[in-house]
Amino acid sequence: MADSRTDPDSSPPVPRVLRIAVPTPLRRLFDYRPAGRPPVGGWRPGLRVKIPFGRRHLVGIVMECAASSELPAHQLKPITERLDDEPLPADWLWLCQFTARYYQHSLGDTLQHALPGPLRQGRPLEARIRERWQLNTREALALDALGRAPRQRELVQLLAQHRHGMITSAITAQGYTRAQLQGLLDKALITRSSEPLMASEGWSGALLAEPSLPLNREQAVALAALHEGLDRFHPCLLHGVTGSGKTEVYLQLIEGVLGQGRQALVLVPEIGLTPQTLSRFRKRFRAPVVALHSGLTDLERLDAWEAARSGRAPIVIGTRSAIFTPLARPGVIIVDEEHDGSFKQQDGLRYHARDLAMARAHRDGVPILLGSATPSLETLAQARSGRYRHLRLTQRPSRHAPAKLELVDLRGRLRQGGLVPPAIDAIRQALKAEGQVLVFINRRGFSPSLACHQCGWIAECRHCDSRMTLHRQPPRLVCHHCEHQTPQPDACPGCGSADLRPLGAGTERTEETLTTLFPDVPVYRIDRDSTRRKEAFDQLLTEIRRGEPSLLVGTQMLAKGHHLPHVTLVVVVNADAGLYASDFRALEQSAQLLVQVAGRAGRADRAGRVLVQTLHPDDPNLRLLADDGYDALAYQMLEERRVAGLPPYRYLALTRFEATREEDARQMAEAAGDAVREWLATRQLPVHCLGPVPAPMERRQNRYHLQLMLSSEKRSALHEAGAWLVGWLESSATRRVRWSLDIDPMTLS
Ligand code: ADP
Ligand code: ZN
Ligand code: ZN
Repeated sequence: MADSRTDPDSSPPVPRVLRIAVPTPLRRLFDYRPAGRPPVGGWRPGLRVKIPFGRRHLVGIVMECAASSELPAHQLKPITERLDDEPLPADWLWLCQFTARYYQHSLGDTLQHALPGPLRQGRPLEARIRERWQLNTREALALDALGRAPRQRELVQLLAQHRHGMITSAITAQGYTRAQLQGLLDKALITRSSEPLMASEGWSGALLAEPSLPLNREQAVALAALHEGLDRFHPCLLHGVTGSGKTEVYLQLIEGVLGQGRQALVLVPEIGLTPQTLSRFRKRFRAPVVALHSGLTDLERLDAWEAARSGRAPIVIGTRSAIFTPLARPGVIIVDEEHDGSFKQQDGLRYHARDLAMARAHRDGVPILLGSATPSLETLAQARSGRYRHLRLTQRPSRHAPAKLELVDLRGRLRQGGLVPPAIDAIRQALKAEGQVLVFINRRGFSPSLACHQCGWIAECRHCDSRMTLHRQPPRLVCHHCEHQTPQPDACPGCGSADLRPLGAGTERTEETLTTLFPDVPVYRIDRDSTRRKEAFDQLLTEIRRGEPSLLVGTQMLAKGHHLPHVTLVVVVNADAGLYASDFRALEQSAQLLVQVAGRAGRADRAGRVLVQTLHPDDPNLRLLADDGYDALAYQMLEERRVAGLPPYRYLALTRFEATREEDARQMAEAAGDAVREWLATRQLPVHCLGPVPAPMERRQNRYHLQLMLSSEKRSALHEAGAWLVGWLESSATRRVRWSLDIDPMTLS
């Protein structure tokens, strides 16, 4: 609140012009005139204001205070209202500016994206308050004073059990009313106090709620190295095989940071923020752990944001967007499973949370720890060059090393539900030995295509260049690219034959086969279809964790992130998708996924086996992965990337164009290509421009997609070219064509 007693003469001078970031796609600031009473500390960047914009009123953020504008004075509109006295946090503002600049995105849009909903809508930035009620006097005295008011007597007895008082919601949850509280308050038997909604309740003194584990030698070496860099920017890679105890190292690192009175920010993949992960953090620390996930309401998100900003939240853990959480006293950033694709946002503001985390740690001068069993080639290259400290964990605390991949030849063998006889035999053995089996298949539905055996017709999507997936539960054809659905045809639309056959297996088909083959064993299918309701997923996991012999058929939803202690055999139905794909990252991503999936086998007290079915058992990359492991393949892929001039040795910026009419998209993309080439020639920048070329799936949802690629060995040159191209597109693109720029694209689709 503004202090009305402030002497107006001592206020800082009011600037003539406020330059404001407005939530629009336009990459510029907008000039306004300040109006109303200036804030106590004067006009500063980071203050939110309400402004007239076109016919609407929007919430914008002051970015600069200037003495003059390019607009003539009479065109300069005044702001409607000032919303803040204090600016938004400086570290947050810096990160947004960095993000907008790096990803060539509108600053107003970026700020909007990074702000909790209620703040976007103009709600005041202050902690929501809750009330706490506390008995004022000894229980017996209070009861004496009350006479015969049974509910109030009970309420007194309840409060007497809680020395630190109780919050309103805890009291009303037990059936008491506000009126009863008010009654006791009026008699002065209890007191009422206010506190922020997310107070770090009961946390003082001892940090730990349970003792930390004694570390093994490798963990101890890693932790010592991390402790030594606590007071500076210190980028580290914790490169440890699955189950090697990376999380234990995170926990003890955080302990050190909290001990200094500072905060820890932990980023995990979307699929990794499981109740198990959270409970590991919550069990360890007495300090509150604030989790940012998609299940929060807007107000809960604001509470978490505020608690982090004010420093009341010592540990913040969240998925991608949690990188935009301000911290009062940053102490460390940890990115778990740093290679995971979900850290990159694939639409709108296409940022990579791991890369932003690196920039942020650098700016704040704090250590950053990237953890993975299968580091991205980007991170591995940095570690190899010595820019990141390379910490390794090669041993598992449990007795068993991660299982080796055993390749199983699919060629010329009869398949049932995607599985060949050796795999089925192995499943039988594992079940006999009372183990659980995880069958990994990265395709939902019954079968990835439906074909006519007479004429060769294949069910295709009317709106995309793709095939329809056959589902049986319930029966229908679904396009997994646009969600278009049609009933399952009874006869071939081409020749009328009724001989329509599913080609290949998806989760539903494998589930069906396994149910037939092993009628006495429960089969649990876990994919997006079977777990649309959240409780369904939790229920399945509870069943599975009871440890009875059972078959789990799942997509990466199950294969990543979840701890499945009773699995002794993993079968990968088909490992070939990434081997010959056109996308240059496909092999890397598929190797990472294979290793993660394999890591589910033999986590507890039993050794595990991993069978990988393939049509290419002699593929040199797959062999290398199976025989020598991920690191060997990764270093070889790095060499290939260097030779081919691909990331991480060259930087990429991909411009995507799309339109309803193919020629609109093509003309725009070609004009952009011509323009940028001409500009590059005059500037002599070391940037290559490739294309335009059709996107790998050219027609998607009835729209045509093309792309234009910029690449350079010099990041600064690439950014200069990207910025110029964006400027050109902003002024030249027609409404019929949608375009976007993707800096450091993760896929070329
Ligand atoms: P990661 O994060 O590398 O996959 P985890 O931290 O989940 O590995 O550790 C795997 C298992 O080993 C967990 O059950 C964990 O409690 C246990 N563990 C980790 N470190 C130790 C240790 N130093 N001593 C004993 N058990 C450990
Ligand atoms: Zn036919
Ligand atoms: Zn489609």
